[in-house]
Amino acid sequence: MTGQPSLKLPARVRFAPSPTGTLHVGAARTALYNYLFARHVQGSFIVRIEDTDVARSAPEFERAILDDLAWLGLDWDEGPDKGGDYGPYRQSERSAAGIYRKAAARLLDEGKAYYCFCSQERLEQLKQECLNRDEMPKYDRRCLQIPAGEAAARIEAGEPATIRFRVPDGNEVEVTDLIHGRTSFSSNVLGDFIIIRSDGGVSYNFAVVIDDIDMAITHVIRGEDHLTNTARQMLLFQALDEEPPAYAHHSLIMGPEGGKLSKRHGATSVGEFRQLGYLPGAIINYLALLSWSTAEDREKLSMQEMIRDFEIYRVSRSAVIFDIKKLNWLNGLYIRDLDPQSFHNLTAPFRRGAAPGATASQLAVAERAIQTSLVTLADTEGQLKGFFDDFAPAESGDIAELVNPESARVLELALVKAAALSGDGDFAPDAADSEIEAARRLLAELKIESKREKIAPKRMFQTLRIALTGQTSGPELPFLLAGLARDTVTKRLTRALEYVKAAM
Ligand code: GLU
Repeated sequence: MTGQPSLKLPARVRFAPSPTGTLHVGAARTALYNYLFARHVQGSFIVRIEDTDVARSAPEFERAILDDLAWLGLDWDEGPDKGGDYGPYRQSERSAAGIYRKAAARLLDEGKAYYCFCSQERLEQLKQECLNRDEMPKYDRRCLQIPAGEAAARIEAGEPATIRFRVPDGNEVEVTDLIHGRTSFSSNVLGDFIIIRSDGGVSYNFAVVIDDIDMAITHVIRGEDHLTNTARQMLLFQALDEEPPAYAHHSLIMGPEGGKLSKRHGATSVGEFRQLGYLPGAIINYLALLSWSTAEDREKLSMQEMIRDFEIYRVSRSAVIFDIKKLNWLNGLYIRDLDPQSFHNLTAPFRRGAAPGATASQLAVAERAIQTSLVTLADTEGQLKGFFDDFAPAESGDIAELVNPESARVLELALVKAAALSGDGDFAPDAADSEIEAARRLLAELKIESKREKIAPKRMFQTLRIALTGQTSGPELPFLLAGLARDTVTKRLTRALEYVKAAM
C-alpha cells in the first residue's frame, strides 16, 4: 500500500484542534501551514473540533481557539461555527450521530474488527509481560478467537467490550510524506488497536480517519508527533477501501535548550502573546519562517506574499527552536508599520493611564515618538511615562550614569540649545515633521559641539535620554525632543544638571 501525494483537486485541508487548552504557538503554526497551503492552491481550509476527550474538552477552549485563529487572520471556510457541506464539524456531534459506530459496525461485519472483552487487569498484565521480555506491548489477540455469534450474544447480554481493529499481518505500508520523503513500516509491529472504547467513545485514530474520509480531506498537514499515528491511520483507510490523503508532518517547536517548548520558557499560547502586546502579523510572519523560507530568503512577508509563495515541500525537516529575540524584532517592525490611528487604537489598552492630562495632539506626538522604539505594545505605558511623568531624578536608577564631568557638560550645552526649541509639544500632528526636523538639527549641532570637547556621541545621546526620560532606552531622540514641550525639556535638563553637580 502506498500513500502517494494526493493529486485530488480541489485540495481540502483541515486544522483539527482538541479543545483541551488554549491555542499553543505550535498548533498555530500547524493551522498556518494548512491555511497557506489551502489558499495557495485555492482549496478549502476546514476547522474540525476533536472533542472526544469529554473530561478534558471544554466549550470555552473551543471558543478561545477559534477567537485566536480569527485574530491571527486564519479564516476558515468550514467549521463548527460556520457550517459547510461536510458537517457536523465537532467530533462530539459526529459521535452522537452514530457516525463512528456505524463505521465500526461495517468493519465488524467484514471481519476487519472484533470485540474484545479482556479486562483492564489482563491487559495490564499482558503489557508487563511484553515489557519484561523487552518487547513492544502488543495485544495477544485472545478475543479474536471468539466466534462472532458468541461475541454478539455477550454484547447482547450487556458485557462491556471494546472494538479492536484487526491489523493485517505482513503489510508493508509506505508513506510518501511531503516533508519527510518516503518512509515505510511493517504492520507486524502494530498490535490490534482499539477503535471504539468500552464506554462507546471513539478512539483518536479511528475518529480522524472517518472524519478525513467524510470531509474529503486531500492533505493532512500536522506535527511530526503524529507520525506514528499515520501508520495506523493508513491501515484504516485501506480497510475501509479509501484512498488515504497525502501527508506532511512538520517538525515541532523546541525551547532554547532543546526539549518541548513549555510554560517554563515563558509565553507559549497565542492568547498570552496577544496580551503581551504582540501583533498577529508578526506572530504569523515569525511562525511561517520557523521552518519555511522563500526562494529569496525574505524576512518580512505579508500574508498575501506568504500565500503566493508558500510551498509545502520547502518546509524543512529539522527541529526548530523558538527564538523570542527574532519574534521581538519582527514585532517591532510590524509596530512601526502601523498607521497612526491603528497605533493609537491598538496601544489604548496598554496605556493604563500613563498619560494623564495629555491633550489629544500631545498624545499623538508622543505616540509617534514611542512608535519608533516599542518592542511590544505592552511597552507603551513605560515609554509614555517618559513623556508625561514628572519623574524625580533622584528616584531614577539610571541617573547615576550621568554623575561625571562629561555628562554635566553635555547637559550645559543642551540647555543652551533647548532654548531654541520652538514648540510647546502640542503642535498639530501635521506639523510634526518640521518639529522633528528641527530637533534633528539641534542634535546634529550638539554632536559637533560635544565632539569638539572630546565627548563621545554615544555618551552625549545617552546623557540626553536619561536626563529627559529617566530611562536608558526609549523613543528615538529627535521624536522625543519634538514631542516634549520646550519647558519640560528645559526643566528636566536643569534638574538633571543640578542632581549631577550635587553628586559629583
Ligand atoms: N486533534 C489532534 C491534535 O490536537 C490533531 C489530529 C490530526 O491533525 O490528525 O493533536
